[in-house]
Amino acid sequence: MAWLCTGNTNKELVDNLLDAKIISSNRVASAMHAVDRAHFSKHHPYEDSPQYIGYGATISAPHMHGYALENLQDYLKPGMNALDVGSGSGYLTACMAEMVGENGHVVGIDHIPELVADSQRALDQHYSAWTQSGRIKVVAGDGRKGYSDDAPYDCIHVGAASSNKPTDLINQLKSPGRLFVPVGSASQNIIVYDKDRDGNVKERQIMGVMYVPLTDPQKQRSDFL
Ligand code: SAH
Repeated sequence: MAWLCTGNTNKELVDNLLDAKIISSNRVASAMHAVDRAHFSKHHPYEDSPQYIGYGATISAPHMHGYALENLQDYLKPGMNALDVGSGSGYLTACMAEMVGENGHVVGIDHIPELVADSQRALDQHYSAWTQSGRIKVVAGDGRKGYSDDAPYDCIHVGAASSNKPTDLINQLKSPGRLFVPVGSASQNIIVYDKDRDGNVKERQIMGVMYVPLTDPQKQRSDFL
């Protein structure tokens, strides 16, 4: 049960995710051990539930971050190029940067400039070598369109629900490449889109979820006033 994974420390939380078999890869576990959630969440960082980070956004629950990294691990190998859409706190973007290593590159995109500034501050403070080398960067923009400047990507993670098939993101995948995205409105599922070497795309439903929507900044801010 996911909520049982709550710990008193980052290590305890990640060890609980391992015990619960939400994560099983050593590479995922060591990335989650290396990146402390407390650097990205002021409130209850080691609780296995989403936490409010302001501007109508939450840092997703640790078990969802775990599932995402498990599903994307083969596309987060050293030297790979990845995109994190709806990067919010910047936590998962940092885990992805840890996994792709010093020759890899990860960009996080969020449409709330204040969240981009907060995540940039956390990254500069705790992972300055990565921000200085360009291994990680965060930018403001509409992630529904992806981020064409650094495309194509080995993988794309999306941290908010897309109301329809995210064609622009699929187009920015490499061949092969993988997209992990919640899709739907009232009822949502994580869909994994796999693009093969020839550019053919197959989709697979992983599990039912409840994410905040990919939306417009004005709508997101007004929904939470
Ligand atoms: N993955 C992040 C945040 C998850 S919350 C974390 O765990 O910290 C979803 C995020 O998606 C919010 O930060 C929200 O601002 C962002 N978002 C919503 N619609 C967006 C859009 N159209 N483009 C970019 N980001 C968007």
